[in-house]
Amino acid sequence: MVKEQVLSKTRFMAGLQCPLRLWLGLNEKNAPEFEVDEVSRARMESGNRVGEIARDYFPGGTLIEGERYEYEKKCALTQEALKNGHSIIYEAAFMHEGTFVAIDILERGSIGWIIREVKSTTSVKTVHVVDAAIQLMTARSAGLDVVRADLLHLNRECQYPDLANLFTSADVTAKAEEMMGYLRARESELKCVMVEDAPEVEVGAHCDSPRACAFKSRCWPEIPEHHISTLYRFGQAKTQALIEQGVHTIDQVDSSTKLDSIAARQVDSIVSGRVIVEAGLGPDLDSLILPAAFLDFETVSRAIPVWEGCSPYTQVPVQFSCHFMDRSGALQHHEWLAVAGCDPRPQLAEALVKACEGAETVVAYNAGFEKGCIIGLAQACPELEDQLMAIADKLADLLPMVRNNVYHPQFHGSFSIKSVLPALIPGMGYKNLDIASGDVAALKLENMILGQIDGNTDELRSALLKYCEMDTFAMVELYRKLQDLAG
Ligand code: SF4
Repeated sequence: MVKEQVLSKTRFMAGLQCPLRLWLGLNEKNAPEFEVDEVSRARMESGNRVGEIARDYFPGGTLIEGERYEYEKKCALTQEALKNGHSIIYEAAFMHEGTFVAIDILERGSIGWIIREVKSTTSVKTVHVVDAAIQLMTARSAGLDVVRADLLHLNRECQYPDLANLFTSADVTAKAEEMMGYLRARESELKCVMVEDAPEVEVGAHCDSPRACAFKSRCWPEIPEHHISTLYRFGQAKTQALIEQGVHTIDQVDSSTKLDSIAARQVDSIVSGRVIVEAGLGPDLDSLILPAAFLDFETVSRAIPVWEGCSPYTQVPVQFSCHFMDRSGALQHHEWLAVAGCDPRPQLAEALVKACEGAETVVAYNAGFEKGCIIGLAQACPELEDQLMAIADKLADLLPMVRNNVYHPQFHGSFSIKSVLPALIPGMGYKNLDIASGDVAALKLENMILGQIDGNTDELRSALLKYCEMDTFAMVELYRKLQDLAG
């Protein structure tokens, strides 16, 4: 069968989200939208590693190998493995009337075969059940007696170094069987899409579900500034209803529309074209007593934990920046960045306690994250527990102070520091840094600390230090600006 005519599971899933997305995948393989950035690639590789590690929990199986489009070869090898009596097969491949699936782990049970699909998440999502349902439907149609479909996912309860329970399993057979009628209908429709001209598809909520489609910049009309979709936490359904009434931008929202106080402030700010500052800002800032330590962590979050007591995706702080502001407003900067090879938490905790010494307040932006990191450090370093928990108790959060009191038209509905900073302090931002996003920083940190970067890392360390320093300096400048605004 011509490879372009095969409805692989990946294509099936793309087509379920949007027939046009499926068609583009077949007909515009080299479209720039299909290029993946380094963060997405690293996530995919991490998922693949989880899949490979899962095989160790079902040992003794035979692996069906073959290049990506060698569908027939892989199916033939699977049939041979079945004939030879193998009871565990990795990447077992089946094709039925042009639909192709490869099952992560196929295991012979006492009354029939069990499909196990491996997911690198810590919970089961609907999209995973759809995935398992396609496998189940196709394997059964190809003649295999499958009695159960399981999703094997990472277990939050697992703690390094005991990885015996790294995976936990959810039986999704009944849910997958319920979906089969729908999937069979869509299967025929998608096979037609694959051989016809590009389908016409309206844009809509499906463009972001189950994941944001890479073709949005192509399909969606250019969105005007202050589009109604940027109204703060207004919700997709209510936004769509307003669009249907002809309301496209925030300045068109009339007074009969029910808004919460933050969204109402946003509307006022955009209509008046000025920054709005509430009287509550001053008292909120008064709760931030000097000396203060402006603190930010960078973390590594591994699917497969590597440090004592960590579970899948535990956020482990491996770097911090701290600007310490004394009573006069003068600053002193402290920073710490892990080196490769060892658990960074004991040394980081020690450096953190020193950096925050004497602070009345510890300031963060979205402080819940910093609090979680500090609690994790206290668990990992019990000898510093009291000092660390004292730091956690002093946390003050700048984010709600901004969100509840200030709106600038250039926030565009977001209160992330990367939106707030350039709006309130023009010229300040992350644009000129070699590392300018938390995702990239986390990836580089993981590679550096876990030894996946060879050679001299001085440049990388310097870029990481600058990025993290910018995070806390930004908070300092924001605090000063908020004081000005509060008068
Ligand atoms: S942006 Fe929307 S309409 Fe366009 S291909 Fe993607 S999902 Fe389909």
